[in-house]
Amino acid sequence: MSKVLIIGAGGVGTVVAHKVAKNEIFTDIMLASRTKSKCDQIAAAVGGNRIQTAQVDADRVEELVALMRSFQPDIVINVALPYQDLTIMDACLECGVNYLDTANYEPKDEAHFEYSWQWAYQDRFKEKGLTAILGCGFDPGVSAIFTAYAAKHHFDEIQYLDIVDCNAGNHGKAFATNFNPEINIREITQNGRYYENGQWIKTGPLEIHNSLTYPNIGKRDSYLLYHEELESLVKNFPTIKRARFWMTFGQEYLTHLRVIQDIGMARIDEVEYNGMKIVPLQFLKAVLPDPKSLGANYHGQTSIGCRIRGIKDGKERTYYIYNNCDHEQAYKETGTQAVSYTTGVPAALGAAMFARGLWKGAGVYNVEQFDPDPFLAELGEQGLPWVEKFDIDLEV
Ligand code: NDP
Repeated sequence: MSKVLIIGAGGVGTVVAHKVAKNEIFTDIMLASRTKSKCDQIAAAVGGNRIQTAQVDADRVEELVALMRSFQPDIVINVALPYQDLTIMDACLECGVNYLDTANYEPKDEAHFEYSWQWAYQDRFKEKGLTAILGCGFDPGVSAIFTAYAAKHHFDEIQYLDIVDCNAGNHGKAFATNFNPEINIREITQNGRYYENGQWIKTGPLEIHNSLTYPNIGKRDSYLLYHEELESLVKNFPTIKRARFWMTFGQEYLTHLRVIQDIGMARIDEVEYNGMKIVPLQFLKAVLPDPKSLGANYHGQTSIGCRIRGIKDGKERTYYIYNNCDHEQAYKETGTQAVSYTTGVPAALGAAMFARGLWKGAGVYNVEQFDPDPFLAELGEQGLPWVEKFDIDLEV
């Protein structure tokens, strides 16, 4: 029996609302966001009067505190933007509420993401006996839970980890991002980074690429990016010698991205326009397709997983664990595409793990620090079945 407050009514918030509403552990559900009408639309689509809605500016701790004091949730699922992570965590501390998110904090004026800001809340959450669950989407999220599962059941020592993220879907638009365009473009236009022998190696943006084969999809150009779960995984699994993250991009997408950067539209600093200040990337977001709107004509699948090499019983072993998710099926169920779906399902399931006492502990945790078994036991029936392959050529 648990009361949950969902913050953020975008693509991911839509999926979280659908999934939470189907789970009887959640007796009271509130969906709050900057624009209340979007919450109302989602609540109506879910139906059954399961979801109350509210307006909140999650940049303002005092507004969050007022909302939490009146609704009194047990847990907040934060699926607004990474900029709001710290204000929401502050409000949770003030009101005695547990916390879960899907992306680590990022300052608005600096495209820089790392866990240090949120890990710094460790003592405060511990002292209050509260739990903060960080990064419970797909990647970060299931990618780290897959790694924890591999470490628990299949390896004595994980040595090489490659997280591979392929979106082989086609939405028919010339250019669109699959989640918030501002966050997405900030992520992929910065330098790449991977971990090797105790050090972080920096690369140029999308400098390193490889052709990788994805199940049911085939070969796709895959580019090395920095991704936030690498930071927590190498800390929590210190046997890892090398950890990398790969994401697929089509040539058409990369050409658009290059032009966007070359003409200055990816800038995140303010520029003067007609007597007012605008941030070019925020303006671009306003004219690009809303990721939520892509679902209707999206075909094809995503495939995200972990390719792992390491030692079991003194012998080298390779292992691949992944999920493929179909855009059309995700749309039929929730009205959103697979990228929102693969993020929202784990967020709702992580909150259920907490509500049922299967994931617990006072402090700030990355998802790989919890038991992966109960989560993965239910992930398939929640809509994201997973597959394991052993002793195969990992290509990486
Ligand atoms: P959207 O942009 O579609 O939705 C974000 C929502 O947050 C919108 O409803 C927006 O309101 C709301 N919001 C923004 N600022 C505020 C604020 N100050 N106060 C209240 N509400 C606010 O993003 P997505 O749904 O695509 O992504 C949501 C989160 O999921 C992001 O943090 C993203 O990084 C993360 N993500 C994680 C992934 C993973 O696998 N771990 C993968 C994909 C996304 P409004 O509608 O008014 O703009």
